[in-house]
Amino acid sequence: MSSPVPAGPPGQADALVIGGGVIGLAIAWRAAQRGLRVTVADPAPAAGATRAAAGMLTPVAEAAYAERELFHLGRASLDRYPAFAAELTGLTGLPTGFAPTGTLQVAYDGGDLAMLTEQHRLQESFGHAASPLTARECRAAEPLLGPAVRGGLLAAGDGSVDPRLLAAALLAAAEQAGVRVVRQSATGIQVTGAGRAAAAAGAVLADGSTVAARRVVLAAGWQSARLAGLPPGTAPPVRPVKGQILRLRPRPGAPAEPLARTVRGLVRGSSVYLVPRADGEIVVGATQEELGSDTTVTAGGVWELLRDARLLVPGITELELAEAMAGLRPGTPDNAPVLGPAALPGLVLATGHFRGGVLLAPVTAEVIAEYLATDGLPELAAPFTAARFGNEHEGAGRAHRD
Ligand SMILES: Cc1cc2nc3c(=O)[nH]c(=O)nc-3n(C[C@H](O)[C@H](O)[C@H](O)COP(=O)(O)OP(=O)(O)OC[C@H]3O[C@@H](n4cnc5c(N)ncnc54)[C@H](O)[C@@H]3O)c2cc1C
Repeated sequence: MSSPVPAGPPGQADALVIGGGVIGLAIAWRAAQRGLRVTVADPAPAAGATRAAAGMLTPVAEAAYAERELFHLGRASLDRYPAFAAELTGLTGLPTGFAPTGTLQVAYDGGDLAMLTEQHRLQESFGHAASPLTARECRAAEPLLGPAVRGGLLAAGDGSVDPRLLAAALLAAAEQAGVRVVRQSATGIQVTGAGRAAAAAGAVLADGSTVAARRVVLAAGWQSARLAGLPPGTAPPVRPVKGQILRLRPRPGAPAEPLARTVRGLVRGSSVYLVPRADGEIVVGATQEELGSDTTVTAGGVWELLRDARLLVPGITELELAEAMAGLRPGTPDNAPVLGPAALPGLVLATGHFRGGVLLAPVTAEVIAEYLATDGLPELAAPFTAARFGNEHEGAGRAHRD
């Protein structure tokens, strides 16, 4: 059993969290609840991938080969969501848009149906299969589905949340718990000592000021490998993976015909999803592109998303195209996050959540806050430490491909 870490000198934070996206804010909140003095540095909290994200909480519908451990981490986080969302709203009075309404996966043609059947086998092998539905049953569950849908799977335990609302609630809860939010970039990690005695001791901010901290948590999304001062081998192997995403809204005065739950479709081998919000908005996403830090919204990206989404739910063409944006997911070589201590003492990694950072926020916050408070990393996080990459991640920041 780990014991609480002793407090550091006055003026020194117990933890400096670099990055106030959904991951950094959730960690800061949970760590402050453990009695730690926490500072978050971010020039624009929640403006990164968090702002783009659809907010699907879909470990079952997104189960993938070679990602069994990530699947179980996602399930563990999903289990925590009802209490996590209720606690946030209870403390702040702010909504999160949490909706435990399930996910309907649908197939557009025979090839897509064969892929869904394969997906179902995988879910069974993970011990959490969705329920197979005929085409008729899919349409009974979602009357807005188009006539071509061939069949589907209902993952009743999946859900969704509105990441923008969630982040606003997390920021409010963190500040309420005493977290200091500094609206500045960290430009470099401060390291004391040299060689084996080297340790992270804080960060330099864009205005030249410094924040001294006993632990530095790197939670800067895809930019986590870009900070100056990281000794070779300590930067996490994250790269940006572009995702274009759309927000559609009912036109003023037009009746909203809401989807009851998230619909994820395979359309001639391509994936597309539609995530409904309580106010009638439908989020349609997302492309997955390896284009470095480019965030251009392209005509082709928007067209492909609308083309496929319309084949599944024809009525979306009546909606207003209210927003089109691109975000950058923090991708890693194995699509899983990097959690826990880095090779540099004092540096803690909480990044690389790729397409699942919103889903994984509750469990990430819990394990990292536990580590910060006790120096012990919970077993749940053990498969996700940087150690799994050996020395491979020394070239972090380079482009990799899936
Ligand atoms: C189109 C799209 C759809 C997605 N859909 C889903 C989904 O449905 N479900 C899901 O679970 N996940 C989804 N994701 C993934 C999810 O958005 C990410 O995994 C998650 O946002 C990662 O959170 P983060 O806090 O690590 O990074 P970010 O949200 O990117 O936040 C990083 C923060 O760090 C700050 N920062 C960067 N550099 C510095 C610096 N030097 N100093 C200080 N601060 C810094 C940034 O300003 C930013 O606020 C989606 C992503 C995209 C792009």
